[in-house]
Amino acid sequence: MARNLIIIGSGPAGYTAAVYAARAELKPLVFEGTTYGGQLMTTTDVENWPGYAKGIMGPELMEQMREQAKRFGAELVSENVTAVDFSSRPFKVTAGSRTEEADAVIVSTGASHRRLGLESESKLFGKGVSACATCDAFFFKDKVVAVVGGGDSAMEEATFISRFASKVVILVRTEKLRASKIMTARCQANPKVEFVYNVEVVEVLGVEQGHVTGLKLKDTRTGETRDLPCDGMFLAIGLMPSVDLFKGKLELDERGYIKTKNVSETSVPGVFAAGDVQDWKYRQAVTAAGSGCAAALDAQRYLEKMHEGKG
Ligand code: NDP
Repeated sequence: MARNLIIIGSGPAGYTAAVYAARAELKPLVFEGTTYGGQLMTTTDVENWPGYAKGIMGPELMEQMREQAKRFGAELVSENVTAVDFSSRPFKVTAGSRTEEADAVIVSTGASHRRLGLESESKLFGKGVSACATCDAFFFKDKVVAVVGGGDSAMEEATFISRFASKVVILVRTEKLRASKIMTARCQANPKVEFVYNVEVVEVLGVEQGHVTGLKLKDTRTGETRDLPCDGMFLAIGLMPSVDLFKGKLELDERGYIKTKNVSETSVPGVFAAGDVQDWKYRQAVTAAGSGCAAALDAQRYLEKMHEGKG
């Protein structure tokens, strides 16, 4: 027999949906993926999660959410979903050799920050390399910080970081920004912010010291390299919603995120989406959790209607 609800993803959206759905006695099955917890697992102090006045470590917050979902009876499976079939009912969700069926599905697979793909970058991630100014800018008081990217995210991150850092250098790989005029103008008017064009980061320096000490930059026109001393590097080169499984099955918006209406409804009735996979704008743990709650309530109402119809 088909289950009521399958939740795909285990960030704040997925676990919050699981807590609500489990408390509504829907007995949700959560495919957490082989590594659970999402983006917060790679952050340190989370200082903007309401209720923790002194902050909480990202992994601990996720562990707590996971325990809470379990406590109310959510069934957690540490496997990656490999295929979904939303073309007939009940819906089918497959992880390797296991296929489960459900009347409703919540997609909360999140998004990941694009990275440069350098070995030194991954070695120093969390040690001066970050992809989240809201999370980490505070740790760069009176320091020199580089922001990589030329879009609105880079402008926004640079503006935010400049409240703490002594200097912010925006590194743009071409001679053209992608950012909107208004956000660019705000940065240009900021005395702490400097722009460097036509540069590519080829190495993050400081692996031996265990923290960022600078960046090796290559001029994209001449090929010449030079070192930029700095204490941190923030990546703002875009996010990628984790939608590979859903291409051709759920409608995506022009940015590539799952398209939702009425908060959580996707193009397939009975399939709901929550968190960063459908939100290009806010991208906060707390907004993801809120949308997970909304998706669980919407799924609950959908299932009630469906069962009324059957009864
Ligand atoms: P964008 O795709 O708009 O910009 C990405 C930037 O990163 C571009 O300058 C791009 O350069 C650069 N880039 C990509 N890959 C690399 C790389 N490997 N090395 C160096 N640079 C690289 O992404 P954003 O996250 O900035 O914005 C996404 C969307 O969200 C946009 O629609 C934006 O308007 C919106 N947004 C709105 C905000 C607001 O209104 N408050 C705030 C933040 C985002 P290139 O141009 O050469 O490709």
